Amino acid sequence: MRNKKIIGIDFGGTKINFAYTENKEVKRIFKFETGKIKDKNDIINKILSGISALKSDFDAIGIGIAGMINHKNGEAVLLTNIGGIQNFPLKKELENIVKKPVFVDNDVNVALFGESRLGSIKSLENAIFVSVGTGIGGAIMLSRKLYTGKDGFAGEFGHITVKENGLKCGCGKRGCLETVASGTGIERYVKNRLNKKTDITAKEIVEQAKHGDTLSLKAIENAAHYISRVSGDLINIFNPDALIFGGGVMESDFIYEKTKAKIHQFALPMFLKNMQITRSTLKNNAGAIGAALLALELLNGNNVYV
Ligand SMILES: [Zn+2]
Repeated sequence: MRNKKIIGIDFGGTKINFAYTENKEVKRIFKFETGKIKDKNDIINKILSGISALKSDFDAIGIGIAGMINHKNGEAVLLTNIGGIQNFPLKKELENIVKKPVFVDNDVNVALFGESRLGSIKSLENAIFVSVGTGIGGAIMLSRKLYTGKDGFAGEFGHITVKENGLKCGCGKRGCLETVASGTGIERYVKNRLNKKTDITAKEIVEQAKHGDTLSLKAIENAAHYISRVSGDLINIFNPDALIFGGGVMESDFIYEKTKAKIHQFALPMFLKNMQITRSTLKNNAGAIGAALLALELLNGNNVYV
């Protein structure tokens, strides 16, 4: 059988990553800024410009995109962080243009799939992925297949309520994990406690915390507390082989170590005994690589979903 060439795409709120794979091997990888996305045509045009930059033939495209995605029909139901676009049949519209099969899923699902095939959990069966970046997303793998629920939306760990009547979340609810522990949540914690208006990033807050700034340290401790609480609950629910942290915020050793150290407060000791708590080894390429590998499996007629 001829090697299949697949383009994997990770479409995020700030960056689009492309991975060009041939027979499960990553041949090329590159990214560019997403820029302002106003409508669905902007999404299609960004994808097409990446594909034309590759100047290579391909058999299929796999896309991971941040939002509520129904992988069964390839529809982006709600892209909160990408122009608030709703009910966009991405698979259908792109297939009409490129005349090749297109597979679409949530960005964290494809990242977990990438980790399970080429990354941190190659030989493990059951895993949970907690992605902490601008927002907080998640994914669930059972017996090496993705569990996505009835509509494809399962794993929205960022919208687990951790504070009743807490801060307003982008989803419309209040007190979601995302409001206190995402990059934006960490920034908001500091900004809301300063008297003057300041533009400060989560990265800068981490640096200040490391240098002993009390408010910054409190913001980080607060985020680590809530992430570890929800992660501990997830461990108690799923009894997984591994819990993987990913996303830009978790690339900080400072936050990752603090979070990891607190999980034992919330997860049952016997669950923690023989499991791994680790970080994504494919890092910010996990999504694009995972999207390509997922598309290859689906193109080959394999079922990757529970
Ligand atoms: Zn929410």
